[in-house]
Amino acid sequence: MDFTGLGMVYDYDLFVIGGGSGGVRAARRTAALGKKVGIAEESRYGGTCVIRGCVPKKLYVYASTFHESFEDAAGYGWTVGKTSFDWSKLVANKEAEITRLEGLYRKGLEGNNVEVFDTRAELRGTHDIWLRSEDRTVTAERIIIAVGGYPNPHEALEGHELGIVSDQAFDLEQLPESIVIAGAGYIAVEFAGIFNGLGVDTTILYRGPEILSGFDDDLRELLHAEYEKRGIKIITHQVFSKIEQASGGKKRAHLSGGDVLEVDEVMFALGRLPSTGSLGLELAGVETDDRGYIRVNEYSRTNVDNIWALGDVTDRVQLTPVAIHEAMCFVSTEYLNDPQRPDHDLIATAVFSHPEIGTVGLSEHDAAQKYGHLKVYSANFKPMKHTLSGRDSRMLMKLIVDAETDRVVGAHVLGPDAGEMAQLMAVSLKMGATKADFDRTMAVHPSAAEELVTMYDHSYEVKGGTRV
Ligand code: NDP
Repeated sequence: MDFTGLGMVYDYDLFVIGGGSGGVRAARRTAALGKKVGIAEESRYGGTCVIRGCVPKKLYVYASTFHESFEDAAGYGWTVGKTSFDWSKLVANKEAEITRLEGLYRKGLEGNNVEVFDTRAELRGTHDIWLRSEDRTVTAERIIIAVGGYPNPHEALEGHELGIVSDQAFDLEQLPESIVIAGAGYIAVEFAGIFNGLGVDTTILYRGPEILSGFDDDLRELLHAEYEKRGIKIITHQVFSKIEQASGGKKRAHLSGGDVLEVDEVMFALGRLPSTGSLGLELAGVETDDRGYIRVNEYSRTNVDNIWALGDVTDRVQLTPVAIHEAMCFVSTEYLNDPQRPDHDLIATAVFSHPEIGTVGLSEHDAAQKYGHLKVYSANFKPMKHTLSGRDSRMLMKLIVDAETDRVVGAHVLGPDAGEMAQLMAVSLKMGATKADFDRTMAVHPSAAEELVTMYDHSYEVKGGTRV
């Protein structure tokens, strides 16, 4: 319990709105320091990542890769019998696992004496939080808003209500025979890989020239080629013009180029929007940008002194580990007398496409904007596993080096376990590794990752933005 200079007593030292990765971490760590903490979540504890994001997605990615393993096994002498796939079993098993994780999140909170509310909470003032289920207002000295976001439902599109977003894709009653997914970012690309791997006739529809904008161009092109080899259709430079109900439960998707696709499901993966509507931000005077994301300073503090915002609702980098890191920095700054600004530099990331992408640092395009002279080391090869499996699949490794300092400024991998590699590449890049450091590191043999430390000669240079 804290006292203000005005003699006021608050119900809580800290109240957190939103029980996702960032909110739960901030609540748990603060309560562990002996502070009185409350948290409210209107849906399920664990938030987007655990309930309808990273965790179920990765489980579905695993599910979608088995059929290739069955095929690849033949080259290794195996005869695999008749196989079949049960979508409802996958959905039920996924549900059991996320329920288990949800329980752990809750237990972690309760075990640290956080008061856990299962309700929507809204701001009613700078220190006041209204709890809907109890229709009462509590007060807190500090407040964190960590309400995250939701998938863009593409409301401007005629017939958008016939489409689904990722939230629903996890729990479809039955696996569709065909789907068209709009967008070509993380979610579109990952779900396309999942549905294709589960045998669904899958199409990506993208407004731009190439999938995964912002990623290194070589990765984008190779993943495009790998997806097409697996039967995923990729339509670029087009968007939906309208969606209509067709017979037999199908949807008729009209494309801007005039084509019409008749499919079982239409999915939108067009980015996410902040869950800040009706949150009472205006009653507390919390500022947002024009898209509704909460504005924060480098310590995650909003324009209101006692209110912070963490994670996706601030639209800094929409990734779970980033939200958790921001929460840890908040606790350190506010309760441990050790000011910590979240470090958003050199964040490694994976796209769990199939094959997957792991990347850290700058793409060649972005590096060329920043550095006058680059040396690029690149290897494109058939992963060893596919020598005997006979699968036509390539792997790509790419290091981008600032020629002046020899520092590796970007490291990109496409292929099996690329996400795992990205984690360790990130440590090296964070430490400022040079290409010479990579060269003097002994290879792990035989592995794919050894390519990263054995690309002795550069493939080409980039000078003044042009490959030479
Ligand atoms: P992304 O921002 O990754 O991708 C959005 C896609 O939709 C882009 O291809 C974008 O095109 C396109 N788009 C946006 N608006 C429109 C529009 N009006 N009309 C047509 N196309 C449009 O968002 P996602 O929804 O895929 O994912 C949301 C966030 O979740 C990601 O940014 C990421 O931070 C996080 N995430 C992370 C994952 C991971 O770490 N593996 C997995 C899943 C999600 P353009 O590129 O041209 O702008």
